[in-house]
Amino acid sequence: MCWQQVGVFLLAVVTSVASDNYRELTGNQVWKLNQEDEATVQQLVVDGLVDPLDHSGPSTSLRVTPETAGLVKEVLDQAGITYQVIVQDLARYLRDNDVTPLVQVRFGLTAQTCTSLNCSAPLTDNYMTFEQMEYYLAQLNSHPRVSVSSIGKSIEGRDIWMVHINRSGCEGIHAREWISPAVTLQIIHNITHDCSMGRGLEVYVVPMANPDGYVHTWTNNRLWRKNRRNNPDSSCDGVDLNRNWDFDYGVGASPNPCGETYRGTSAFSEPETQALRDAMLQVNSTGTLQMVMAVHSYGQLLLFPYGNPASNPAPQTEEMKQLGIIFANTVKTVHGKNYVVKSSGSFSPASGATDDWAKGVLKTTYSYTLELRDKSSFVLDPDEILPTGQEVLEGLNMVFLALAPEKYTQ
Ligand SMILES: [Zn+2]
Repeated sequence: MCWQQVGVFLLAVVTSVASDNYRELTGNQVWKLNQEDEATVQQLVVDGLVDPLDHSGPSTSLRVTPETAGLVKEVLDQAGITYQVIVQDLARYLRDNDVTPLVQVRFGLTAQTCTSLNCSAPLTDNYMTFEQMEYYLAQLNSHPRVSVSSIGKSIEGRDIWMVHINRSGCEGIHAREWISPAVTLQIIHNITHDCSMGRGLEVYVVPMANPDGYVHTWTNNRLWRKNRRNNPDSSCDGVDLNRNWDFDYGVGASPNPCGETYRGTSAFSEPETQALRDAMLQVNSTGTLQMVMAVHSYGQLLLFPYGNPASNPAPQTEEMKQLGIIFANTVKTVHGKNYVVKSSGSFSPASGATDDWAKGVLKTTYSYTLELRDKSSFVLDPDEILPTGQEVLEGLNMVFLALAPEKYTQ
């Protein structure tokens, strides 16, 4: 019997409001640089001094904390870069611009499918708490096509759930990227209930790979990205789970625990990346894993390896590009959104990412990082959940068809 597997690892990271998830951003500012200077910005990122807010090119918007503002100013002055402070206090700015009523965000009460914790289907008009996601996944487990299992525990002891949809892979890793789990849950729901989708393929989805970080974005800091590792000898928490994988480890990633891209003490130092690695190795050992897709936001990009330009080109670059274009063209037909297909190496060097490891170590033919809507912010209006899910679903459907055409003609 011939069967194929598509491992789409949709990694989503997110958290927000009711208990004031902006409070840790008090005093943070957004600085807008008047000139592009990729080398200087990259150095500031690696040194752990700024959080770059542009995701599709050299960043000219930087989030600066009160602790680092003095140093950042010195570096910019020395490099001759002028800037304006466009947001004086990010906590106040986000509170003032939060259009979603607190109660809705907290309990997700608006959807017909969800009351309090009781969610029989993923919300399409609001973001879900981690508890709501777990409730939904528990319900889903009773579906005959589905098995839901824990592939490991986060550093604070939460389960990392993997959904296996029979004959028919997905992952979410950065906490603040709320749209990622929202979309991957829609994908799970649709593949499960639509037998024509993913036909003949085994699909594995990890909708929430960083549950601690996600919960933290709901409770303390809407813009939290990393996991919740308590770093010894540092006042800063967290490791960037997308810089912790063992391929070109360390290149372009921050050695500073206060950095948003802190790589950790060693490759796979974190329980979350260990769990994902082991699950992917396990899936790969039972068949041919054809595709891995790590789902992030934002930027509307479909990136293929490698993040370190020195390692490029990756094997099968042309194939990855071709399938990527099929995805992007299909996405565009749904709501007209443009997703740009390009090598992650066309940005500043960044290694230790999921897709690099899947390509370089697992030897997966098609390996991607998908950056969802939009082009400017992690704080995406809930109105965009449904259309984003719809376009990605259509794109994936066409990708599945391209990967296993014979399954559709039998
Ligand atoms: Zn991300």
